[in-house]
Amino acid sequence: MQSLIKEWDGESVVVSYHRPTDTWVFVAIHDTTLGPAMGGCRLRVYDAPRDGLRDAMRLAAGMTAKWAVAGFEFGGGKSVLAPPRPLQGADRVSVLEHFGDLLESLGGSYMTGEDLGTTPEDMAIIGRRSQWVHGVDGKGDRAVDPGPYTALGVFVGMRAFVRQVLGGELEGRTVLIQGAGDVGRPLAHRLHEAGARLIVSDVDASRAEGVAKEVDGRTVSPEAAYETECDVFAPCAVGAVLGTETIPRLRCRIVAGSANNQLATDDDAEGLHQRGIWYAPDYVVNAGGAIALPMLGQGRPKAAIDARIRNIERTMEEILAEAVERNESPLHSAGRRVQRVLETARGRSKAVGSRQ
Ligand code: NAD
Repeated sequence: MQSLIKEWDGESVVVSYHRPTDTWVFVAIHDTTLGPAMGGCRLRVYDAPRDGLRDAMRLAAGMTAKWAVAGFEFGGGKSVLAPPRPLQGADRVSVLEHFGDLLESLGGSYMTGEDLGTTPEDMAIIGRRSQWVHGVDGKGDRAVDPGPYTALGVFVGMRAFVRQVLGGELEGRTVLIQGAGDVGRPLAHRLHEAGARLIVSDVDASRAEGVAKEVDGRTVSPEAAYETECDVFAPCAVGAVLGTETIPRLRCRIVAGSANNQLATDDDAEGLHQRGIWYAPDYVVNAGGAIALPMLGQGRPKAAIDARIRNIERTMEEILAEAVERNESPLHSAGRRVQRVLETARGRSKAVGSRQ
């Protein structure tokens, strides 16, 4: 873990250990140029604690990019709760309370919300111990599901790519959704309403069948998903699904989905580009939930939140236009956009510093 932290380009890592359940807790703060760090809290069983630490650091860097592109004054941060086995009942509450106390002790330098493996109810428990959790109301006993907001962002981002790459709208296009969960399901519904044809895949076959039925779609097995012909492949399950083993099998023109860190490595963006597949950078297209949570916390109306999320469509158009012009993966044009935002902010704070 020491070497991982030393090699990281982030600002700080907080490590805590919850002895009663043998759970490791990591808070990774990547870059606070734009403001205090904010990013979700992930709960997952890893092979080893250091894998949880690595996940926290990588996801925190993704949050830096996400906030920069979305135009919010937040820094990149992420937390990971890494127990040795699934947490339930009193053990789960105890870990969440431990994390809530840790979060409160950070005094607002890091704020959190729901992520993979945590639920709105978990956020409510954390919210009883800390004010720095988004997605719970003032009393800390009700929470918001960011999934539908994330789905809206993926939907408009995907639409921008379809228009530019394939021409026309989503009607009649075939979209394969990998993962029929909190994002995949509302995304399937939006696409169905727009006239798209849906193929749904999930390791939980009954979940895939349920969603496919709701949207007049069909299902494919998780293994067959990669080589199933479609216009858009939408990874909405787990990270690292696009690598040297899966990219050659894809039969789509666009990849646009909600999963964080979809690429096994950044080099895999090249693999997609060489195959003529346009990759919608995950941290741009999946920012809807992240955008919604602080705005909900400020009591902003739904119409204002939706409008802000719908900006993702324009951003994706611009990113893709630049990528097409330079004949490069959209990941590169998105990366330059992030650097521009951070450099402008650093320049501003230097100017303020020199005046003081
Ligand atoms: P979820 O847990 O509700 O749903 C994930 C689904 O994927 C589950 O139904 C699961 O059975 C399925 N799944 C897991 N592994 C799979 C595999 N290999 N093949 C097919 N299906 C598989 O999660 P979610 O909240 O819908 O999030 C999905 C992804 O989007 C995650 O990577 C998450 O980090 C990312 N994301 C979510 C949000 C949000 O608002 N929920 C925001 C940003 C990013």
